Amino acid sequence: MTPKRDIPVITTVAEMHQWVANERSLGHTIGCIPTMGYLHDGHASLIREASTRHGAVVISIFVNPTQFGPSEDFERYPRDLDRDLAVVAEAGGSVVFAPTVDEMYPNGAQSSIHVSGVTEMLEGALRPTHFDGVATVVSHLFEAMQPDEAFFGQKDLQQTLVIRRMVEESAIDTVRRVKISIMPTQRETDGLARSSRNVYLSDEDRAVAPVIHRALAHAAKAIMHGERSKVLIELSMFATLKSVERFSIDYAVAVDASTLLPKDTFDVGDEIALCVAVRIGRTRLIDNELVRVTA
Ligand code: AMP
Repeated sequence: MTPKRDIPVITTVAEMHQWVANERSLGHTIGCIPTMGYLHDGHASLIREASTRHGAVVISIFVNPTQFGPSEDFERYPRDLDRDLAVVAEAGGSVVFAPTVDEMYPNGAQSSIHVSGVTEMLEGALRPTHFDGVATVVSHLFEAMQPDEAFFGQKDLQQTLVIRRMVEESAIDTVRRVKISIMPTQRETDGLARSSRNVYLSDEDRAVAPVIHRALAHAAKAIMHGERSKVLIELSMFATLKSVERFSIDYAVAVDASTLLPKDTFDVGDEIALCVAVRIGRTRLIDNELVRVTA
């Protein structure tokens, strides 16, 4: 077994800039993975991919208060830096950027970046300030880490669309030049999407949670067998999810994958996003599947 590498932890933006300058002087390009920590194999898959493409890979670990609503789980969000450093070392990361809240928001957080359009539905409708927090922190993190490429998971599909739009429209050079890459969702063997929040699930809740993926897979199969009606695709997801009494369904929708807007009937060539959010106990789980409509 190879000995575990010690991963340096940088906590200030100034030090981060120095590290980036040094890596660039060595001829390295920089990949980054923004996270809220409590890393699992979903995060590790992003780190692994980044390390195949870049000489230097920085993972940010920052539980961002501005993306949590007042009644959400900011305080109890799981945190374990030592465990995270072991995951980063194993997956091939170079350094961790773990700033404090004051370092990220030195003047408080009275201003924010607002992306309109794609933030208005699904998660944005239920968590009204969430995407302002996400867009703002990712812009700040990109300024700090100055990456060439940043890696995100398809698991948070709407977030990827928000970030792409934020980057395209940013007036800040170090933000606008970042290439955004989206990686597939990593799942447990029973289909449950890996998530830091899965640790909240009781044994009973954990046992039924894979039904979310089953609902997505059934609907995807129906589309592949020729179903084109939005209503019928959504009914299929509801029917599967309703089999679990403990679920409270926030949404289960079939929408256009690039705009997240509804469409009554899908056509050949369309890419459909099947998106689900359920609450189970005090935990909220989201998942999605993309399906291309073929003839
Ligand atoms: P988080 O720490 O939850 O903010 O996630 C950090 C990044 O990891 C985001 O881009 C997520 O979409 C991504 N991610 C989270 N879970 C998974 C997963 N199961 N598979 C792939 N990527 C994931």
